[in-house]
Amino acid sequence: MSASLAARPVRTRIAPSPTGMMHIGTARVALFNWLYARHTGGQFLLRIEDTDRERSTDAAVQVIFDGMNWLGLEPDEPPVFQFARADRHRAVVDEMLARGAAYRDYMTPEELDAEREAARAEGRVIRSPWRDLSPNDAPDRPFVVRLKAPQDGETIVHDQVKGPIRFENRTLDDLILLRTDGTPTYNLAVVVDDHDMGITHVIRGDDHLNNAARQTLIYQGLGWEVPAWAHLPMINGPDGKKLSKRHGSQAVSEFDDMGYLPEAMRNYLAKLGWGHGDDEIFSDAQAIAWFDIKDVVSAPARLDWDKLNHLNNHYIRQADPLRLAGLVVAVLKSRDVALRPDDEALIARVIPFVRDGAKTTLELADAVVFALKARPLELPEKTRAQLADPELAGRMARLRAVLAGVDDWSVPPLEAALRAFAEAEGVGLGKFGPQLRAMLSGGAPAPDLAGAMTALGRDQSLGRIDDALSLAA
Ligand code: GLU
Repeated sequence: MSASLAARPVRTRIAPSPTGMMHIGTARVALFNWLYARHTGGQFLLRIEDTDRERSTDAAVQVIFDGMNWLGLEPDEPPVFQFARADRHRAVVDEMLARGAAYRDYMTPEELDAEREAARAEGRVIRSPWRDLSPNDAPDRPFVVRLKAPQDGETIVHDQVKGPIRFENRTLDDLILLRTDGTPTYNLAVVVDDHDMGITHVIRGDDHLNNAARQTLIYQGLGWEVPAWAHLPMINGPDGKKLSKRHGSQAVSEFDDMGYLPEAMRNYLAKLGWGHGDDEIFSDAQAIAWFDIKDVVSAPARLDWDKLNHLNNHYIRQADPLRLAGLVVAVLKSRDVALRPDDEALIARVIPFVRDGAKTTLELADAVVFALKARPLELPEKTRAQLADPELAGRMARLRAVLAGVDDWSVPPLEAALRAFAEAEGVGLGKFGPQLRAMLSGGAPAPDLAGAMTALGRDQSLGRIDDALSLAA
């Protein structure tokens, strides 16, 4: 990196093309750019590469905004839209023509085909004769504008992840900057936009490594400073192969739908290609303090569902129950579960008792369902049959009386009461615990007995027991 580049405030960006989904690879690129900007006290920007007019709908752009917003990676400036800058791209090409860094190529399609054939036969890249012809000889027909790239020597991409990558200039053709219809090409637009946005570090997927060589030549043709490059390794599926639908997911929104928390995703994505020693779990503040591009590894990263689930469970256990309740309500609504006005508050009360085993907010939703059931609950067949036995029915009635006498309705006193009751009856907990559990939950998954009763509260717990007992009577 040049001294003048190192002296500039860091500005990074992501430049997704709106395709209708935000790929998890784009999310990881966004995160690394965000972390590096935050680490250096610089700025993180967003550019929408919307030059493909068919695909770039408002809805597709909104998917990117939503994805960034969900991940909590807010850009520091309003987004830049590439298509709107086409006039600026054309003006830069005029500048390049004026400086002799580009030329108009008037080859007809037939001439281009013939040149392509000859180049293939001779094992070289295509060259247009117009590179060396005088513009005064220009015919009156459509042309493209090409970069007048050096034909000798080499172009070195000094990549901060992969090290110096060398490209022999004779293997790079004079790339097209403007098409015959006057539209700018991708590589030109990227260079002009990155320059105008003051981008100092281009951090992106390594599928763009070859473009970095071509873009370097455009920067040089313009006499502009080349940014620092960092090309991140791909994310592969758990089997080490290219990530695909088969692996369960590719889009950021799917991870949201599957019940992952954004902070778990940030922690997880940060670990895909970067790390800080053996640290598995770290906060945003720690990641920002520790992150450096030079610590990114060049080997492809692998998606590991077990690790992601482990992290998500960690963050679910840490999160504010009120916030989780909001997420659980959304999950239940998506399942068409009818909710009463107080249910969100009830869910928030239940969450601390059920969240330890939940890997996702979907599992959390499954785990709160027992508390939402309306009285009287339907009892499992087996429990009904058991309660027909007068001995068990009598025991459960005595248990009800004992529980009703517990003043402090919380886990330790309830646990103590259950233990004391077992002792007084001279039986193990197994002789009434499963039945009590079924009376409290109607057979739905529920936490341990004291937890379930605390979550439900005194009135609801005793009421459910009464309902079951009257059913048995
Ligand atoms: N628009 C490109 C993409 O979505 C990214 C270009 C860049 O980061 O330079 O792959």
